[in-house]
Amino acid sequence: MFPFGHVGFTAFFANLLSLNIIFAVIGSQIPDIIDKPLNIIGVLPNSRNIGHTLFMSGLIFISSYVITKKKDISFSLAFGSVMHLFEDIPYFIPWFYPFIGYTFPHQPFSVKYSFIWFSIDLIGLFLLFYVYQCNSKFRKKVSDIIKSVKSKLKL
Ligand SMILES: [Zn+2]
Repeated sequence: MFPFGHVGFTAFFANLLSLNIIFAVIGSQIPDIIDKPLNIIGVLPNSRNIGHTLFMSGLIFISSYVITKKKDISFSLAFGSVMHLFEDIPYFIPWFYPFIGYTFPHQPFSVKYSFIWFSIDLIGLFLLFYVYQCNSKFRKKVSDIIKSVKSKLKL
C-alpha cells in the first residue's frame, strides 16, 4: 500500500477504536520510513524488512513510552505500525523476525504505481476526509497543528 492508503485506513480504524488519530497516522508511516531508505542505499535486500515486524511495533511502543510516559500516544503509534503490516499483507511481511528466521527476497527498490494502488490511495483519502468530518476532536488537533506550523513559519 502507498502512503495515502496507509494514512486513511489507519485513521479510520484508529477513529473506530477512539485512539489518538494523529499518532496512529504517524505510526502507520514508520515501517516504510525505516525500511525503504535502507533498501534504496543497499543496506537491506528488500523494502519490507526489520521495520515491518511486530518486534519493531513493540520497540516503537516501549521507546515512545519511555520518552513520553503517555500510554495513549505509545499505543497509538504502535497501533499505526501494526496496521501498516496488515495493510501490506499482499506483500512478503516478516511478522515475527528476528524470533523466526526468514528468507528475505532480494528486491531492489522500485515503485509500480498502478490504477489499483491509485484507487486504494483515493479510498484512503476519502476515509481520512470522512474521519476529519466526523471527529471534531481530530479536526481541532489538525487545526491546532496548522496554526502552530503557520506561527513558526510566520505566515
Ligand atoms: Zn510498507
